[in-house]
Parts: sequence; C-alpha cells; structure tokens
Amino acid sequence: MKYYMPTLIIEEDQVVINNQDIFGLYGKNPLIVTGKQSAILSGALSDVLKVLSIKGISYKLFDKVEENPSVETIESGAKQGIGCDYVIGIGGGSPIDAAKAISLLLANDITDSQTILFNNHKNEALPVIAIPTTGGTGTEVTPYAILTDHSLGTKRNFKAKIFPKYALMDVKYFMTMPKEIRNNTCVDALTHLVESYMNVNTNKYSDYIAIEGIRLWGSVKESLQEGELSEKDMKVFMNASTMAGIVIAQTGTSLPHGMGYALTYNEGIAHGRANGLLMKAYLSMCKDTNRVDRIMKALYFSDLEAFGGYIEKLLGRLNISNKVILKYSKDMMENENKLKNHPDKVVLKDIISIYSDSREIKN
Ligand code: NAP
Ligand code: ZN
Repeated sequence: MKYYMPTLIIEEDQVVINNQDIFGLYGKNPLIVTGKQSAILSGALSDVLKVLSIKGISYKLFDKVEENPSVETIESGAKQGIGCDYVIGIGGGSPIDAAKAISLLLANDITDSQTILFNNHKNEALPVIAIPTTGGTGTEVTPYAILTDHSLGTKRNFKAKIFPKYALMDVKYFMTMPKEIRNNTCVDALTHLVESYMNVNTNKYSDYIAIEGIRLWGSVKESLQEGELSEKDMKVFMNASTMAGIVIAQTGTSLPHGMGYALTYNEGIAHGRANGLLMKAYLSMCKDTNRVDRIMKALYFSDLEAFGGYIEKLLGRLNISNKVILKYSKDMMENENKLKNHPDKVVLKDIISIYSDSREIKN
C-alpha cells in the first residue's frame, strides 16, 4: 500500500501572520494569484501583504482568475509572473488551481501552454503556497488543477502533479462566503469524500479518512441547511474539505465529477452544485450497497431517500432536456479517466439514468 501526501498543512487562527518565515523560504519575489474579490473580502490578501512587507519581500499580483479558470487566463497570469520565484494562490479552487498551472508555465516555456499543461513539461513547477477561502475543493492538498479548455469545449485536469508546499488554513477566511457559494462548495467536499470512498483506488488509509470526513460533514449538515454557520461549524466543513482533498489526491474522483464538468461548462452550474445534483442518483446505481449504507450512516441519514431530500432542499434539481442528456452522456462515455475509477461496469444507459433521475420532477 502506498500513500503520498507531501503538503504541509498548518491550521490555526492567524495562520499567515503566525507563520511568516514560510514566505521567505522560496525566494524574494512571489507572484500572488487571486480571483477578483475573495482574497480581499476574506482578509487573506491583506494578511499576506502585511507579512511580505514585514519581511521586505516584493511581489507581483495577478488578480484576474475567473471561476473555472481558462487556459487563456493561465497564460496571462504566467506573463504577469515572469521573473517570480514562487507562487501564492489565495481563494477558492479556481485561483489555487490557476496558481498551480501558472507555476508550471513559469518554470517552463510559457509560449507553449497547451503542451506544457496537457502533454509534457521539462522542469518542475515553482513552489506553490495555497491559502484557501472555500471549503471546498481541497485543492490545497491535491496535485490537480482543473482548467477550462475552450479548444475542446470542456474542463480537464492538467497533466502535471503539483502538490502545494504549504496549505495555510484559517477559518476566518471562509466566513465571508455568501450562502449559495458556501452550499455549493461544502457539497463539493462531500462529493469528493463519497467518490473517493466508492472508488477502485481506495486503500485503508483513504477509507478511514474518507469515512471520518463524511462523519464530520454529517455532524454539521443541519447548520448548512439552516444557513447559519458558526465559526465552529465552518471549521468542521473546512476540515472535512481538506480530508476530502487528501483522499482524492490518492483515489481521484469518478462519475459525478466527470458528468458535472459538462453541466458547468455548458449550463453554467457551479462545480460543487453540479456534482451534488447528481450524487443521489449516482449512489442509487452503485452496486456496493454496503458502502453506500455506511455513507448514509456516517452522514446520519436513514436512507438514500432522506439524503436525496436534503440535497434537493439545499441545491434544487437539474433542469436539462433529454437531447442534452444524450449528448453529455455520450461525451462522458469517452472520459476513460473518470470511468475507470468507478468499480462497476458502466454503460451509456447508466449515465443517462443518473442525469435523468437528477432532474426536476414534473407532474
Ligand atoms: P471558485 O470558483 O474558486 O469561487 C467561486 C466564487 O466564490 C467566486 O465568485 C469567488 O470569488 C467566491 N469566493 C471564494 N471564496 C470566497 C470567500 N471567502 N468570500 C466570498 N466569496 C468567495 O470556487 P470553488 O468551488 O472553491 O472552486 C471551483 C474550482 O475548483 C473549479 O474550477 C473546480 O473544477 C476546481 N476544483 C479543483 C480541485 C482540485 O483538486 N484541484 C478539486 C475540486 C474542484 P472570486 O472570483 O473573487 O475569487
Ligand atoms: Zn470537486
């Protein structure tokens, strides 16, 4: 059995201010990568700038990362970062994934982004420090970066495996998430835990961590539904999200994530919501019902119906036509990377059923 997790996770109040030396470890000229607002709103950017100023470290800022970052954005970020020696990613999954991809381009030939990102690269990426503000993707502890590739009309993982050197976790950065973003991102973490637990690549460590992450998630699920999250509750979601990242770094994700990309790219449905909408129908078709039962138990749900009701109340249901479902399902059948992680044989009809059964119920 093997388990590789090289990211040093530090979780504490005032984590950036208390760990200033980390910002001097990799050079004197970082590129800070953020989205448009979240790094400012969460207070994380101002903490980082304070520390860089105390340490006399100059920096460059790329603050233009959109949700589901495109290859074009990665190229612009890399141009902005020429000459930098390491990268600090602050935000949700989008800016941190962008930070990883930019760090790879900066260490290689930034004029050949398609090759470097998706085929092969010569040099190791620049070091990345991740400071998350959603809980979430777990990208602070995964080697993945999910990019929007308009040339293929979809989202896809880059080829490299880049674990951040540090994941600096402070729950205060999560407290400014509006309710909808919070619902979507917290459900994303749950889908990671579930897709890891129902995966061909599990081993005993990933199983223990996944089921404990699911239990943690279940212990605060009511507060998410009620829409009132204390810092204590948010911390539990934050921990479950990082645990989810730790296990998908080992196992990968499977059907809901593969199927969700089409919903995000074509229907504009946020990443976490896209996966969450498919979760109940997906679990209903998993053949290992013992594992499904264990998930329900860990979440403190009586059965899958109760789980489905909870998710529906939180996220609503899917609204797409049969024609569109057929197209997305055929595309999914080409996604060998995700199909191979699912333990059962999957045929087109199964994928169609997951999409169809996740739709609004019309009387
Ligand atoms: P996101 O796309 O990074 O951000 C969604 C929205 O939330 C943005 O408007 C963002 O604002 C805002 N936001 C983030 N933190 C906030 C805060 N603390 N306060 C207020 N607003 C905040 O969301 P995400 O769900 O975390 O990331 C999704 C991306 O991660 C997708 O591209 C997905 O494919 C990827 N992903 C990656 C992995 C991995 O292992 N690499 C795993 C799962 C998902 P700004 O635009 O201002 O930042
Ligand atoms: Zn996800």
